[in-house]
Order: sequence, then C-alpha cells, then structure tokens
Amino acid sequence: MYNVKNFINGKLISNSSEKSDIIDPSTGEKIGEVFFANETDFREALQSSQKAQNSWSKVTPLRRSRILSKFKSLIEENIEVLAKAVSLEHGKTLEDAKGSVIRGLEVVEFATGIPHLLKGEYSADVGTEIDSWSIRQPLGITAGITPFNFPAMVPMWMFPISIACGNSFILKPSEKNPSCSIKLAELFIEAGLPPGVFNVVHGSKSIVDRIIGSKDISSVSFVGSTPVAKYIYSESAKNNKRVQALGGAKNHLVVMPDANIGQAVDGIIGAAFGSAGERCMAVSVVVAVGNIADELLENITNKAQNLKVAPWIDETSEMGPLISSAHKAKVVNFIESGIKDGAKLVLDGRNIKIQGYENGFFLGPTIFDKVKKGMSIYENEIFGPVLSLVRVNNFEEAIELINNHSYGNGSSIYTSNGVTSREFTANCKIGMVGVNVPIPVPMAFHSFGGWKQSLFGDHSMHGMEGIRFYTKLKTVTSKWPKGNISHPEFKMPTN
Ligand code: NAD
Repeated sequence: MYNVKNFINGKLISNSSEKSDIIDPSTGEKIGEVFFANETDFREALQSSQKAQNSWSKVTPLRRSRILSKFKSLIEENIEVLAKAVSLEHGKTLEDAKGSVIRGLEVVEFATGIPHLLKGEYSADVGTEIDSWSIRQPLGITAGITPFNFPAMVPMWMFPISIACGNSFILKPSEKNPSCSIKLAELFIEAGLPPGVFNVVHGSKSIVDRIIGSKDISSVSFVGSTPVAKYIYSESAKNNKRVQALGGAKNHLVVMPDANIGQAVDGIIGAAFGSAGERCMAVSVVVAVGNIADELLENITNKAQNLKVAPWIDETSEMGPLISSAHKAKVVNFIESGIKDGAKLVLDGRNIKIQGYENGFFLGPTIFDKVKKGMSIYENEIFGPVLSLVRVNNFEEAIELINNHSYGNGSSIYTSNGVTSREFTANCKIGMVGVNVPIPVPMAFHSFGGWKQSLFGDHSMHGMEGIRFYTKLKTVTSKWPKGNISHPEFKMPTN
C-alpha cells in the first residue's frame, strides 16, 4: 500500500483527508490511496505557480531548453520506473506503457528547440524609419486536466511545451492512476526546474471546478470524454480562459477490395485490441468495402481469438484488463445492446477467466458483424476491446459513413490505389488521417487533435499548435526618426 500526495512548490503536500482508492485493474485489489487537493492546497499551488512564473518567464529560452534536455535524459534513465507505474495502475502491457512514455518524451525533445520555436517575424521599413516585429510571450499560469488512459503521455503533450514557453503549469491527472505524474514532477525538479513552475494537484470534479473557475489561471488544456470536454470548454471560456478540450472518438478504418489484406488485418488487430481498446485513436469500426468483408472478418476473428489476454507482469501478454469494474460493466452493457439491436456477435469476450486474476477487470476481444448506423454500438464510443464491422458497397458509402459520424478524431484507409488514397485524405472530415497505417497519431513535431465532437477549441496539442496555444502574440511597431521634427497626424498613416 502506498499513498500519493499533491506536488506543490517542489514538495509532496496534502492538507486534506479526502482521498480515493487506487485499484490494480489486473487483480481488482486496492494498492494505494490518492489524497485530493482541498481549497488550501489549491491556494498554495496557485501562489507558488504565480511566484515561480514571474521569475521563470525571465529565464532565457536557451536556459529553459537546457533544463528540458536534462529532464529528457532523466526520463530515459527512469523509463522502466515510469512504465511500471503506468502498467500497475492502468493495466496495459509493459511494452505498450514504455511506448507511451517514449511518445511523451518526444514532446520534451521537441520542446528543447524552444529558442528556435519562439522566433517571431521581422519586417524592416514597414514605414519610413519604422520597423515591425512579432514576439510570442507566455500566458502566465496554465493548467491541464488529463484522462486515465495515458497517465504519462497525455500530460507530456501539455506541460513540457507550456513550461518551455515560460509559463507555470498546474496538472490535474486522472485520480485513477496518479503516480506517474508525481514521478515526472520529481524528475523535472531534479533536472533543475525551479519549484512551483510545475505543480500537480489531485482530485475529481471539485478540483477541476476550482481550476476552471480561477481568475488566476490563463488557459486550460483538457483531454478526456466528450461530455466533460464540452463542460470544460464552456465553463473555462466563461472565465475568459484560453481552452483546448479534446474529447472522445469513434475511429473508422476502411478496407478497400484492393488492399493488402494481411497488412490490413495486422493493423486492425493491434489498433482495435491494443491497450484493451482504451485509446482515443483505437480502431472501433472496420468499414469493409465490396466483396472483401467475409475474408477480412474471418482473418480478423482468427487472430483476435488467439490474442493473449493476461496481466502486464506476464511478458507474453498482448492485452490487459479494463480500468475498473464500472467501466467493464459499461462495455458489457454495450455488447448486450449490440446483440439486442441485431448485430451479429462473432466473437464474445465476456466469459474470459484468467487463473489467479479472477477479480481483475479483463474482457476478451469481441467482434460484431453487420453493424449498422443507428445502433448504440455504432454511434457511441465504447472504449473497450469491441470491434464493429460495417459492410458497404463502395468507397462513396464509406466516406459518407465517416463524415456523418459525430466524432472526428482519427480515420484510416487500406488501399493499393493512390487515387483512392488521395480522395480519402482530401475528403474525410476527420482531424488525423492515415493511409495504410492503422493509428495515424502525429509525431511530437506535428499536432494532435480531432474535429467535430472530438475537439472543442481552436488549437490541437503539441507541435506548433502547442507553441501557439501557450503563448500570446505581440506585434511591435518601432520608429527611430533621424531628426527632431514631428507633427500630429489625424488620418490613418499610409505608405
Ligand atoms: P473523463 O472525461 O472521465 O476524465 C478526464 C478527466 O476529467 C479526469 O482527470 C477526471 O478526473 C476529470 N473529470 C471526470 N469527470 C468530470 C466532471 N464531471 N467534471 C470535471 N472533471 C471531470 O475521461 P477518462 O475516462 O479519464 O478517459 C477516457 C476518455 O478520454 C475517452 O473518452 C477517450 O476517448 C478520451 N481521450 C481522448 C483523447 C484525445 O486526444 N481526444 C486522448 C485520450 C483519451
């Protein structure tokens, strides 16, 4: 048993007795407790963030970059510790957890380029003896609220860039797996970050409401489910905050009759069942075009039923448990509704039993055929290892299906035809699009974000979008006249 406290001004602190259990999803047992931040903790976090930001914003970008470089090295040295914390509290396999830490690390790597990334534009002689240039300045105190499914990577989409830009950052991680963010905060201090620049506060709705209601916080970055994203977006905007709120998803993968079927099947298996389907970029709908459907379904089902479902400590595990018993019950409800709505259940993961882990929240790979628009399993995000196959006659029907869905996070196509690929990437109303890749997650130096109900706000995360989000643009117009003569002007100056 261990406990996890808030990390404020470089120290582990808790002024409250309110806490929640940390559960190991593989065993269903309580392994720790997380202390929630109360009013006093939050006030201390705000005060230290404000004080630290005043001096941090004056540290030169090059010096900030050096601290980020050290932080990157420390993450590399501690990758095993960080990944184990992710696997223990989330349940995903250790290799998958390591991959997620590395994808977060790549954002730190990107942020080390901050002296270059902050460069503005310069125009000499915009008027007689007048020059003009733009600079990007920090916002002040920024905040992030993150989901359970990527306890290392999603926070790292946010705080390294915000801090590199000269802001301070208050992180509110998921209360289900809070340990990793504390380890990251400790490593950042070890790298030389002044205390208070990065604070971590724990809790659920009440601390989130404090963050979005605070007049001292300039921006909120959120990643989580769509209903909460909408709430964060509207409430933060009411309090004059800049906000980016990324929500849920329902990602479609189209397989054309001319696709390489082996590659498509392997892509689908990993993308649908990896991390037990608890990824916002998981493939949850396969759209089989024309006569490829039967062969595709047979191949996917054969592979899926042989997946090794096991706890993360088993190195041969390919898929771990769901996050909680409540979430497992929700996914099982979806499966029942799929059966009731007339979809054909071809693989049923509900009765899986893992010896020694009978109380873990495991659910085996589940596949539905003949899924149609309007069914609950088609319209909603399930966030579990449940794959739906929809049969369509042609490419146009596939695109129409994707474009009419309320979510717009990711979508991919498998095809050997360049024209089809081009039509797809140009015309689908989706934020992140793949061709012959199952999960088109942008690298750190590009930006991550969906469309429609998958993102509220104007900016995606990381890459240049991250730099724009965490800075205010200032444009300077400067005149150095040679002589002393001046006179008032009453009309708009023109050239
Ligand atoms: P969630 O929305 O339940 O929680 C996200 C965060 O919001 C947590 O920190 C939680 O404590 C807080 N929260 C929960 N309910 C709240 C409320 N009523 N008011 C204020 N704050 C609240 O999401 P989750 O279950 O942790 O994560 C899974 C969801 O996240 C899925 O929908 C998934 O698609 C989404 N997700 C999206 C992306 C993306 O980039 N679009 C990435 C990862 C996860």
